[in-house]
Amino acid sequence: MTTPRIVILGPQGAGKGTQAGFLSRRFRIPHISAGDLLRAEARRGSPLGQRIARIIDRGRLVPDELMSSVVRARLRRRDAKRGWIVDGYPRFRQQAKTFNRFARPNVVVVLTLSDQQAVRRLVGRRVCPNGHVYHIRHHPPKQKRGYCDHDGLPLHQRDDDTPVAIRRRLRWHHQQTDPLIDEYRRQNLVLEVNAHPPIKAVYRHLLEVLKNIPWLSSRLKKK
Ligand SMILES: [Zn+2]
Repeated sequence: MTTPRIVILGPQGAGKGTQAGFLSRRFRIPHISAGDLLRAEARRGSPLGQRIARIIDRGRLVPDELMSSVVRARLRRRDAKRGWIVDGYPRFRQQAKTFNRFARPNVVVVLTLSDQQAVRRLVGRRVCPNGHVYHIRHHPPKQKRGYCDHDGLPLHQRDDDTPVAIRRRLRWHHQQTDPLIDEYRRQNLVLEVNAHPPIKAVYRHLLEVLKNIPWLSSRLKKK
């Protein structure tokens, strides 16, 4: 049986992590977040982790080979044998080539969101020190206002979540990711889903689209 090997792409604010979490539970496959992997490695304090921590602290981008080796190690773990959904990786065409040397996605979900809406969502974003993400309107913490549901740590707004900084990141995102999406489109892997509606509606639409893929639809029915 074909295993779902899903990559989810889209600008910040499109809800990639949230939708990936839903799909992970629905298909019972691990949700592999590149950002979470890096933070976990940095916390572990291994030589690799220390290198990653220095890069993150300086606000630099983690080099492709390092990023790819972290993802690769995660995909080797046992739970990833039955499939996976990766979010935050690959980010550009060269990285996708590296990715192809150790794993090949069979579905690429592209969440589409206008820049204007992305800015609106991101300025309302709050994060905890462990990287859990909330939104003051669309996704507030459930247990205690201003505190993370997972670890109880206080939420804050990231310094670089100002409209100017967000627009700069969005420009960079388009430069990097649009050619990557084109490449995946040429390989017939892309499923595009409009990310403007509320989270649950986006998820319903996403499932509808995935059901159109025969081998995936049989997995969805089996549940
Ligand atoms: Zn947290």
